[in-house]
Amino acid sequence: MALQSIISPANQSVVATRELADHNKVEAILSQAHASQKAWRNTPLTHRIALCEKMVVYLESNVDEIASEISLQMGRPIRYTPNEILRGAQERARHMMSIAETQLADISVEAPTGFKKFIRKDPLGTVLIVAPWNYPYLTAINSLIPALLAGNTVVMKHASQTLLCAERFQQAADAAGFPEGVFQVLHADHATVEKVIQDHRINFVVFTGSVQGGAAMEKAAAGRFIGVGTELGGKDPSYVRADADLQLAIAENVDGAFFNSGQSCCGIERIYVHEDVYDSFVAGFVDLTRKYVLGDPLDPATSLGPMVNASAAEFVRTQISDAISAGAVALVDETHFSASTPGTPYLGPTVLVNVNHSMSVMKDESFGPVIGIMKVANDDEAVSLMNDSPYGLTCSIWTQDVEAVERIGQQLETGTVFMNRCDYVDPALVWTGVKDTGSGIALSELGFTPYVHPKSFHLQLNK
Ligand code: NAP
Repeated sequence: MALQSIISPANQSVVATRELADHNKVEAILSQAHASQKAWRNTPLTHRIALCEKMVVYLESNVDEIASEISLQMGRPIRYTPNEILRGAQERARHMMSIAETQLADISVEAPTGFKKFIRKDPLGTVLIVAPWNYPYLTAINSLIPALLAGNTVVMKHASQTLLCAERFQQAADAAGFPEGVFQVLHADHATVEKVIQDHRINFVVFTGSVQGGAAMEKAAAGRFIGVGTELGGKDPSYVRADADLQLAIAENVDGAFFNSGQSCCGIERIYVHEDVYDSFVAGFVDLTRKYVLGDPLDPATSLGPMVNASAAEFVRTQISDAISAGAVALVDETHFSASTPGTPYLGPTVLVNVNHSMSVMKDESFGPVIGIMKVANDDEAVSLMNDSPYGLTCSIWTQDVEAVERIGQQLETGTVFMNRCDYVDPALVWTGVKDTGSGIALSELGFTPYVHPKSFHLQLNK
């Protein structure tokens, strides 16, 4: 039996070790998921909503333990991890619960006398959720709650870095009283996941993670005619116009770039600043960046934790050194932070100027605490640079001019346009992307569509 250990980025300790599923375990999970689905789809929606609510209450009631587990498993400072449950996850789950009855109702269609016509939204069957470690509850809840509400059973494969989060979801489902088999956890290696996708008892895959991983999911599903929802990477740009509230733009862009050590799919990865305010913006950005406290994520004084592992930090260090070799200048680098140590996941934030789009740091997802800032002359130049990316998740524009944002936003290749905010997911708005960010759809009133199949009823009466 193969084993998987979680190594903490905080101190390299083994947080937990788990057995990976073998053929018999996979078979048991898939048969159970399939067998439980019929009764679950016929369970009244009000009851499904009540159970999801109890699941959320379980997570809220155990937030202290859950928060320390997140910090230990993936390194986000303990001062922030409770909000993953208390703000994000519960807010998203409850929003989807609040709109479920309307969004899952039949769509009635106008029909001539003697006819009745409507479209029903049938569940798909069993949904496989493959989740990442960077926001281990938030990313998973985006699909878990709508999939369950729509009447599907769910199998969750969580990242090997955050296996305990999947187990917490199982505890929450058990405490809520979900029938056996409606929600199950699968600890599995990649080859096993790919075999599971090829099994006829899986009816949809939702994958959040890297572009490479998303492509592997699509390949595994080829020929099965099932949907694969892909929520992949980003290289999200920010554009600070000359009329921006600079203090707001500085504070929010620093946080957008470095929160979670930059390991956010919609974190700010590159900034374009109008030449009129460039110097002031950069000076303020540098001052604020220097105030981070890099250290042990379990220490309440820490505001920036380690990255997830040493090789992810090494990737970012290489992007930084390559950019500097090509002419970039680091106004803040890791030497300012005493806890920053080459060869480890501890990496202080770096602010680069004199950057351009020939550098990897401005084109490839860094997913770490580094930012490149470029001067631009006007909106057109900013739009062209913002669109010069293989990704398209979010773009943020900092200005007082809402009409300008609507005009610029129309030209941007992106899933979300923000004005005067960034790095935020609103459950009432659809979470999606374009280009290599994938084609997944999550949250909002569109957020049930991936988990249902429409069925037409065309009834001729009294014939
Ligand atoms: P990742 O390496 O692709 O892993 C994500 C999940 O997929 C993990 O559970 C992983 O399992 C699994 N996985 C990866 N490749 C697989 C394969 N070939 N077969 C089966 N399972 C596979 O991504 P990550 O490093 O955890 O997450 C970071 C990426 O996710 C970034 O690019 C980020 O931008 C993106 N992301 C996007 C969103 C969004 O909403 N668009 C949200 C969050 C993160 P193991 O852990 O066992 O390898």
